[in-house]
Formats: sequence, C-alpha cells, structure tokens
Amino acid sequence: MTISRDQFIVWIKDYAAVIAENKEYLTGLDSAIGDADHGINMNRGFQAVLTKLPAFENQDIGSIAKNIGMVLISTVGGASGPLYGTLFMQIGKETAGKLELTLKDWIAALDSAINGVMMRGKANLGDKTMLDTLIPALNTLKDCSANGAHLPDALNAAEKSAEEGMLSTTPLVAKKGRASYLGERSAGTQDPGATSSYYLLKTAAHAFGNSA
Ligand code: ADP
Ligand code: MG
Repeated sequence: MTISRDQFIVWIKDYAAVIAENKEYLTGLDSAIGDADHGINMNRGFQAVLTKLPAFENQDIGSIAKNIGMVLISTVGGASGPLYGTLFMQIGKETAGKLELTLKDWIAALDSAINGVMMRGKANLGDKTMLDTLIPALNTLKDCSANGAHLPDALNAAEKSAEEGMLSTTPLVAKKGRASYLGERSAGTQDPGATSSYYLLKTAAHAFGNSA
C-alpha cells in the first residue's frame, strides 16, 4: 500500500480547503496569544499554492513538495511562512524523484521535515508550537511501522496523536515565537500553529488512507 502522486495532490487541495474553512478560527487563536494573522497567513499561502499547482502537478512528488515550499516561503511571511516552507522543502528533498511513497518513505519525509523546522525555529517539544503536534504524530507513525501496521491504520493513529498533541498545547507557556512575549499569560489558549499542523495530519490520513 502506497501514497500515489494523485493522493499527494488531493492532500494539498484538501488542506487548502480546510485552512480556508478555518481561517477565522486560526486567526482567533492567534489573536489571543499572537498578532491575529495565522489563519490569514496560511490561507494566503495555500491559495497561492492552489493557483500555482497546475504548473508543477505533473512532476514527481519531491518536485511538487519543493515547489509548494517555495510558494509558501515567498507568500506567507511571519514565522509560519519559513517554517511551513521548510517543512515542504524537506519533504521534497526526501522524496526527490518519487512517484509514490511507502509508509517508510512518508516517515522519512516527515522526519526530515520536522528536523528542518526544529533547526530553523530552534524550538523543541513542549515549547507550545506546531512541533507539539508534529513530533507525537511522527513518533506514532514510527511505532506503527515497527509493529507492522498498514498505511491507513498508521495514518489514523498519527492523526489521533496529532490531535492529542494539539490539545496538549493549551496549558503550556510559549517558549518560542510571538506567544512567548506573553510569558505565563500565553497559557490557556491552544497554539495556532499546532492547530494548523493538526489539520495537515488529519487531511493526510484522509487523502492517503483511502488508497486506490
Ligand atoms: P507570526 O508569529 O509571525 O505572526 P503566525 O501567526 O503565522 O506567524 O504563526 C504562529 C505559529 O508559528 C505559532 O502558533 C507556532 O506554532 C509557530 N511558531 C512560531 N515560532 C516558532 C518556532 N520558533 N518554531 C516552531 N514553530 C513556531
Ligand atoms: Mg501571528
């Protein structure tokens, strides 16, 4: 069971739609602990991705992801532009030349993406960022793979861990990004970036799990 290029493109389109639907919600979270632009930033980036997608959707998965990363870096701005840009650029690097991905390929891509985000933003687990969603999801994918799970089951388990990771950010005090300027007052609000990253894993489970 693998992830096809078509499924990869469905994922991106689904994600863009979910970001558009939740634009106000994400911006609301960011208004509580940031500068009220996370939904606006992400939606600007993924609408630009949708516009440019036809120009590169016939390429291999690695090139598609790399192009998405470049569009995000050039259109999103803020902290999330370079971070989500890096995430997709690293997925692109890891999946270069591939037209389909196995569970192991997807794990390697996400691993490299998370390492890129950590290097770029110098954040770690528990700092109240997108990493609090991404790292637990990756760990679950690795555990599932080690236990011989099939791709859809591994993706569903990772979605659950991503949701738990997202929810875990609410009581945390932010250590990175604008929310950290609030110190203790950043506790009590779910992190916007952890929320947009949860949508990434949720849409991946749906788009990749319904294999042809
Ligand atoms: P900005 O903070 O520049 O306004 P956004 O509002 O678009 O950018 O994104 C904020 C989100 O970015 C935060 O909720 C957090 O998840 C994520 N973030 C901020 N700084 C970092 C960092 N150094 N490492 C990882 N994620 C970060
Ligand atoms: Mg912001």
